[in-house]
Amino acid sequence: MNKPLALQEVMIDTKFLAKRLESETSGEVMTDVASRGRYATDASIYQTMPVAVFVPKTAEDIVAAIQIAADLGVPVLPRGGGTSQCGQTTGPALVIDNTKYFRNILDINLEQGYVDVQPGIVLDHLNAALKKHQVWYPVDVSTAAQATIGGMAGNNSCGSRSIAYGNMVHNVLGVDAWLADGQAASFGLMKNATGKALELGQFVQSLAHQHQAEIEAKWPKVMRRVAGYNLDIFNNQSERPYTQDGQVNLAHLLVGSEGSLAYYKQLRLALSPLPKHKTLGVVNFTSFYEAMDSAQHIVKLMPSAVELVDRTMIDLSRSNPAFKSVIETALIDVAGKTPEAILLVEFSGEELAPLEKKVKDLVSLMADLGHPGCVVEMINAESQKNLWEVRKAGLNIMMSLKGDGKPVSFIEDCAVPLESLAEYTQDLTEVFSKYGSRGTWYAHASVGTLHVRPILDMRRGGAQKMRAIAEEAAALVKRYKGAFSGEHGDGICRGEWIQWQFGPKLTEALGEIKHAFDPNNLFNPGKIINPPKMDDESLFRFPQTYRVIPLKTSLDWSSWDVQNDPVTEKTTAPGTGGDPSGGFAKAVEMCNNNGHCRKFDAGTMCPSYRVTRDEKHLTRGRANTLRLALSNQLGKDAFLSEDVKEAFDLCVSCKGCKRECPTGVDMAKMKIEYLSHYKKSHGWTLRDRLIAHLPRYSHHIAAIPGLAFMLNLRNTIPGLAFLGEKLTQISAKRSLPTWRRDTAWRSMIGSTEDALFASAKPVVLWADTFNGCFETENIKAAVNVLEASGYTVHIPQKKQGHYCCGRTYLASGMVDEARASAQELLDAFTRYTDKNIPIIGLEPSCILTLRDEFLVMGFGDSAKTLAKGSQTFEEFLVSEATAGRFAPELKACEQQILLHGHCHQKSFDAVKPIISLLKMIPQAQPQLIESSCCGMAGSFGYESEHHQVSLQMAEMQLLPAIRQAPDAIVLADGSSCRHQIKDGADREALHVARILEMHLK
Ligand SMILES: Cc1cc2nc3c(=O)[nH]c(=O)nc-3n(C[C@H](O)[C@H](O)[C@H](O)COP(=O)(O)OP(=O)(O)OC[C@H]3O[C@@H](n4cnc5c(N)ncnc54)[C@H](O)[C@@H]3O)c2cc1C
Ligand code: SF4
Ligand code: SF4
Repeated sequence: MNKPLALQEVMIDTKFLAKRLESETSGEVMTDVASRGRYATDASIYQTMPVAVFVPKTAEDIVAAIQIAADLGVPVLPRGGGTSQCGQTTGPALVIDNTKYFRNILDINLEQGYVDVQPGIVLDHLNAALKKHQVWYPVDVSTAAQATIGGMAGNNSCGSRSIAYGNMVHNVLGVDAWLADGQAASFGLMKNATGKALELGQFVQSLAHQHQAEIEAKWPKVMRRVAGYNLDIFNNQSERPYTQDGQVNLAHLLVGSEGSLAYYKQLRLALSPLPKHKTLGVVNFTSFYEAMDSAQHIVKLMPSAVELVDRTMIDLSRSNPAFKSVIETALIDVAGKTPEAILLVEFSGEELAPLEKKVKDLVSLMADLGHPGCVVEMINAESQKNLWEVRKAGLNIMMSLKGDGKPVSFIEDCAVPLESLAEYTQDLTEVFSKYGSRGTWYAHASVGTLHVRPILDMRRGGAQKMRAIAEEAAALVKRYKGAFSGEHGDGICRGEWIQWQFGPKLTEALGEIKHAFDPNNLFNPGKIINPPKMDDESLFRFPQTYRVIPLKTSLDWSSWDVQNDPVTEKTTAPGTGGDPSGGFAKAVEMCNNNGHCRKFDAGTMCPSYRVTRDEKHLTRGRANTLRLALSNQLGKDAFLSEDVKEAFDLCVSCKGCKRECPTGVDMAKMKIEYLSHYKKSHGWTLRDRLIAHLPRYSHHIAAIPGLAFMLNLRNTIPGLAFLGEKLTQISAKRSLPTWRRDTAWRSMIGSTEDALFASAKPVVLWADTFNGCFETENIKAAVNVLEASGYTVHIPQKKQGHYCCGRTYLASGMVDEARASAQELLDAFTRYTDKNIPIIGLEPSCILTLRDEFLVMGFGDSAKTLAKGSQTFEEFLVSEATAGRFAPELKACEQQILLHGHCHQKSFDAVKPIISLLKMIPQAQPQLIESSCCGMAGSFGYESEHHQVSLQMAEMQLLPAIRQAPDAIVLADGSSCRHQIKDGADREALHVARILEMHLK
């Protein structure tokens, strides 16, 4: 078998290629090693540096790029979200990213039931636009929030509901594409074909006729066969025909071709009516085998999906705070033994009653099969939606395993006939244990395609085990007459199995198709035709030669520095993983490139990507840049280079990824670590110092008469802000917070420490720098609310100052100063935590620092105790209310209350308490704004070079939502959020403490 075109063979023309692309197109051209590195991987185990990356702005740009590449003999690799699991989007080619500009809906024709789209459109975005027409595109892949239609067609993707709707190939009506020489061709029904499309269609038809007997003998009959090219469109072999009326559609030749035949320009997709109702029966099994055996009977009830979640996955979900309560809604007996497997059986249709009846039929069927009382009946739409989200997160939940052993995808989507599913899974489980591994099973039981990934350490002999397991799995697939590649495509890990599946004659025929379409082998070479070996180490992301640079880290990353047992999944003690960077590199390597951070739906992650759509400004892009730098793949001393700095430039440290990245990549913490090294080596700027030391000098400003007044002139006297910007790079377009003399500590608010210790309801209100210096009324409001309910409130302070968490130092990478500040606070607060006196704070980013960064600064158990005792104002009051100790008398609220959650509150799931607290106000109807980061993000929005992007972040949802509700009270607990709202929408937002105070009777 040939290796894909080696990088050296095409390097010769790279510079010239870039030059021509720059002069002949309007697209973005990237040839630097960091940018190429960010496109070198997908969600597979493979990595290959592209020749260059091109982000076209127009269709003309793409044609020009294809022609330039053809002139220079450079391969072309079209790319969508890059979420492929088999290495389809890795290759030494000119990678063309369709997702930034080539993502429009071109036409919706409801009468004829189709939609025309560009290939870079994301499935969820398409379906959001279709929803108002009561139709949808039903190939519902788990990666719907980031997978593009072009990528889905490239892989012939399949969703959870493929039993009802089929695969991608069953739902594509036409493809307009460019061939390898840039020529356009339109692929649709064979009977209407003309020109080059007809010529190619006729050629493939003659091949199909020539090989008819071989096709009938060798072609898998299961619906979930996605390997190779669809040579059987002229004589369908699948249990589901390509078209309902038996007509041949040449577009189907291109579906599943993984970018190796043609470049999709636009696709015509069949629309399906959006089902009005859905019901769900969740069948709990005490035996995995029985679950698998039941699938063949359950499908006779005509469900729209039957999806498996096994015990390991249930356990993992239960141990994850984000999923625990949801997965437990699926269990018959939450307190009892965890089921070995559950099957999610969905019914959908126009009327609810028949679907409810279907669930009852399922209950009866299960009783008949000897499993009475094992079905959770889920009729509520919201509960169903939540449970589907957990199922969709299945793979990612699995991938959160720490250590170098990871669940590896290479036989994760073999498809077998349902009658053999139980035997097949049992046999394969035995294979895993033979090789010292174990598989976690989940996904599409309805169509016999179960996902399973044995845990392998690719750095330590994983490749050999991978081959051995693949060979045994293949033998099983053959025995049970299945398909080796049933969902995720061929790519690198299954390419070599095409010949195994179809035999030499058909493989040769597939090669002839490739040659007819792409005679010079320029479109994604090495995919489907002439693939490399799946275990070719030179193509691995983590080959045995992978090494990390030694690094003395500023924060404690030892909890990532572990290894795991592939069978029990137990991890070794922190610090024993052998990482020369103390666990930092291993934390970075947790990014498996699944692309979930490319989402735009609810949640925060990733605001910088949401406004730029640049891979560089995406959590994944940052993680890849860091990984490559830490493993010396970006050149000497790359870790402290501008490449890495630039990748962090727009990261607003919102901590969105900390919660929303399925494998827990915490880029905000990584940014602190990175800045601490970068700034130590390159020096801190005046602006860095002004921001970092703010908590210290703020007290002097308040203490010296007249100084606050003078400094505030910057906001009013024309020209001063401009001069300030020249000197400090703090944007002249921003007003700065107003200095004042009556800071919280000079105002003598609250009670003495003696009174606190003597009180029955003591509470320490920690006045942070921002509320304490600039918004004393928030502190006063909190004290008033607490005192009105009988609490004794003490505000700690020290001589000439206050205790600071060190947040501003952390944001500037001054970890030593932050640690000193934090240590001082920790020492001072121990006397309260020792007495179990709660510590509460108003500024989310400050109080949550005590629960987050403090734990990785080397303070040991005292930090854990403080973290446990520290709460936001609203968290404390809600827990007190639940315990019956807080029941204030409040006036009714007539006005709408619009709530913007601070990113760190969202990251710690600490927004709900604000809503609960507001609901204590009679008639209050708080409404959460579905917003990502406000864009101010501490000092980010004040920085002159970030002012514009900061406002763009706010304009995504936050500011428009506020403008649409001119009479609403706006609530924002974060001081920078309040400032952004004032600057962007000219509205005063209030801390929840102020709103409660306003409603005290
Ligand atoms: C966590 C996780 C869950 C997944 N779940 C599913 C699932 O439920 N079902 C499923 O089927 N897959 C699943 N996948 C695999 C993957 O998400 C899908 O295959 C997805 O459709 C790929 O879309 P993409 O935009 O990321 O494509 P990419 O990975 O970018 O590209 C896929 C292929 O399409 C080609 N391509 C892209 N654009 C064009 C174009 N314009 N012209 C020609 N060729 C093009 C590429 O060259 C490549 O070969 C999952 C992956 C992950 C990581
Ligand atoms: S950062 Fe997280 S969400 Fe983004 S690709 Fe990596 S693992 Fe996925
Ligand atoms: S911290 Fe926020 S901005 Fe930075 S990578 Fe994570 S989600 Fe993106």
